[in-house]
Amino acid sequence: MNNFLLSSIKPFYVMEILEKAQEYERKGRNITHLEIGEPTERTNSLIKKAAKQSINSNNSRYSNSLGIQELRDKIATKYKNNHGVSISPDQIVITNGSSAALILSLITLIKPGDSVILVEPYYPCYPQLIKILGGKVRIFKTSVQDKYQINIKKFSKFINKKDKVLILNSPSNPTGVSQNKDVLKFLSSLKINIISDEIYEGLNYDSDPETFLNYNKNSIVVNGFSKFYSMTGWRLGFLIAPKNLIRGIQKLQQNMYICAPTVSQYAGVGALSINQEEIERLLGSYKKRRDYALSSLRDMGIDVGYSPDSSFYIFADMSNYTDNSLDLSLDILKKVGLGVAPGIDFGPSFNKFIRFSYSSSLKNIQVGFGKMREYIKEYT
Ligand code: PMP
Repeated sequence: MNNFLLSSIKPFYVMEILEKAQEYERKGRNITHLEIGEPTERTNSLIKKAAKQSINSNNSRYSNSLGIQELRDKIATKYKNNHGVSISPDQIVITNGSSAALILSLITLIKPGDSVILVEPYYPCYPQLIKILGGKVRIFKTSVQDKYQINIKKFSKFINKKDKVLILNSPSNPTGVSQNKDVLKFLSSLKINIISDEIYEGLNYDSDPETFLNYNKNSIVVNGFSKFYSMTGWRLGFLIAPKNLIRGIQKLQQNMYICAPTVSQYAGVGALSINQEEIERLLGSYKKRRDYALSSLRDMGIDVGYSPDSSFYIFADMSNYTDNSLDLSLDILKKVGLGVAPGIDFGPSFNKFIRFSYSSSLKNIQVGFGKMREYIKEYT
């Protein structure tokens, strides 16, 4: 066993909360989940139909390692229609969730010892993946004072010639903030490889959906179907990379994964046929849930101090209540049966924060914030 590596890998603390919650549920307690960033929408009938058709016609064997042509074509068309950016289907690789797209991108761009910049608060898997590859993590902190935008002046002083890669995540998990156009323009002018994790692209309520490809065509974009199309369990994602990188990525894919799940790829073709009306309905519903969550937090005296404009997360400073976000999350779960994500998952500077996810139904969110109100009133 690779003890040295495994001992340096951190647990995903939110999973520890979820597992504790499940333990309570097995004992018959009613638990409300606002900890997990997983949409609970029913699978759209077009997705189901396309998957069933692929099964019925025995289209369920290995696909081309880069993915089925129909899906790669549809993704290229979507980027043209939604963002006005021309990409060739040959630049697209379909992957096992965006998680695999991230891993393939990182292997492609870094070698042991290379420095990778993460923007804190960050998605918890990033530093672990970098460590696995022998890279060095350098953390650039954003703050609520800057509304979680990357501060251009500070970043200019922070970056140095040794930094090889920056992972950008806009819209962000856990803040729900999209970086503004000035920041994107600034980042595109830097001499650094950028992996732009755009898994929440399109889940924008008060900001424009963006792709970093419109700012820098040499970046690698990571995206997928888990969030926007509520397809977490289908394990379907993709990356878009400059043509000269595709052959290398293809060789990695062949050796590591062979191909993305074929039935899921056909399901993805179905997802890309969902009409605009349905998408507008979904976005309207998320906006309502976000507004409800923010106003309930305000009512209980928690002002998050910024406006989460995208994805489905709210990141709240809980320093009035705790120095230890894991203890606080476990206590909230124990006392009122509510699961929330501890800030420590998203970087060492955010151990006094809690992330709330509004990816579940409005009814569930109402119950959840009711429990949070009770906790603040009765136990703090
Ligand atoms: N990136 C970010 C920022 C995420 O929040 C997630 C899922 N929580 C992923 C990547 C991975 O998503 P998936 O593998 O399901 O596409």
